[in-house]
Amino acid sequence: MRRRNPRRAYDEKGREIAPPTVGDCRARGETTAAATCHGCHHHVVFSTDRFPDWLPFPDMALRLRCSACGSRDVSVMMDIQAHYARLNA
Ligand SMILES: [Zn+2]
Repeated sequence: MRRRNPRRAYDEKGREIAPPTVGDCRARGETTAAATCHGCHHHVVFSTDRFPDWLPFPDMALRLRCSACGSRDVSVMMDIQAHYARLNA
């Protein structure tokens, strides 16, 4: 079996599910994202403004480094608080 990318989701047949891009999220009004460091569990919300539209959303993690411990073992997810704030607006 092909090695799986930890930043991708897979369906039940093991096919990679294409992630949304930064541009897709921007089009939905998402201008921030949340990052968590696996080294020290530091959690931050950051602006996605400096990332290009074409970049797969989870791959922003490749360009981030934890500001607390310097680790590059970081994962990126939707900024849930901003998401709920928009739903309730
Ligand atoms: Zn850290």
